[in-house]
Amino acid sequence: SSSEKLPEKFKIERRVRTVEIGDLKIGGDHPVSIQSMTTTSTADVEKTLAQIKKLDEAGCELIRLAVPSSEAARALSSISSAVDVPLMADIHFNHRLALKSLEAGIDGLRINPGNIGGRSEVREVVRACQNRGAPIRVGVNSGSLEDEIREKHGGPTAEAMAESAARQVDFLQELGFEDYLVSLKSTDVNTNTAANLIFAQKYDCPLHIGITEAGFGRSGEIKSAVGMASLLSRGVGDTMRISLTGDPVREIEVGRKILASLGERSFGPEVISCPTCGRTEIDIEKIAAEIKKALQNFSSELKVAVMGCSVNGPGEASQADIGLAGGRGTGLIFKEGEVIKKVPEEEMIKALLQEIKQMECD
Ligand code: SF4
Repeated sequence: SSSEKLPEKFKIERRVRTVEIGDLKIGGDHPVSIQSMTTTSTADVEKTLAQIKKLDEAGCELIRLAVPSSEAARALSSISSAVDVPLMADIHFNHRLALKSLEAGIDGLRINPGNIGGRSEVREVVRACQNRGAPIRVGVNSGSLEDEIREKHGGPTAEAMAESAARQVDFLQELGFEDYLVSLKSTDVNTNTAANLIFAQKYDCPLHIGITEAGFGRSGEIKSAVGMASLLSRGVGDTMRISLTGDPVREIEVGRKILASLGERSFGPEVISCPTCGRTEIDIEKIAAEIKKALQNFSSELKVAVMGCSVNGPGEASQADIGLAGGRGTGLIFKEGEVIKKVPEEEMIKALLQEIKQMECD
């Protein structure tokens, strides 16, 4: 993996129940999973299946679909029977859609018990979930808190979010339903962190984490990374979604990078490269990109370093398993900080890849 996992002693103490959605286990000692949401109209089976396939191939472990209509709920049976990845239906305001989604074979529901109908409707949905072994994610968002709670706290504060989640969860508990997980999401990173910390210290259900409406492009990715790191480094978060505007496949790439950076999970080889400086005499950016591309289908957890100079390169990258240090017209291949080979510039990439392949076989 790219980083060492933070020792437990630096995290808050938390014992989390395990919830199973399809064959995905969330909580307990299970690794933090990565999920996303389709952007297609769920009623359009063909387009939705095509996007699910792409997400699945990218490593998405749970896929949520919006179910705003009966048409969408009906489409779920064709969709769920055609895929293996666990699916969750996202439903607001209409408990009948939740029941129809369960009938169609959905693996779990994301609802907000506060807006799905009255108590008897929630009871009906809970009973159907119990019959089918489908968990519920209670999703609390800073933008859609109950008026009463918002007024009491003077706005969508962390405490207000935690209270909203607690109320909904307490109601599920009263109904004898424990197969749930919770998300508390804000667009504000610190509110998001505080809300999850308050809740995590009182409840043992798995937490789905994410920064809601993080935005798009680099700023959305950075905001999400900061938000996720601030929770995961404290030991809070069992599954996550990186909400970015645009192609959801990017959400998986970013999620994986965040988990690998925190040492939570490993997804194959990691390429590290030096920032370059006045000593650099080779095109580090291009070489690192080519090596990264060539390693896409490698499965081992090798750490590969691409460094700009032989003065500091091997030493700076001594944590790497293997690496390359560029010089004038030549490149040094090094293993665990020791130089093992000198090759001409034009053969650098090939020689490095040869060594990596050898290490994969060893
Ligand atoms: Fe500069 Fe060498 Fe360090 Fe790269 S490894 S930043 S080229 S000193």
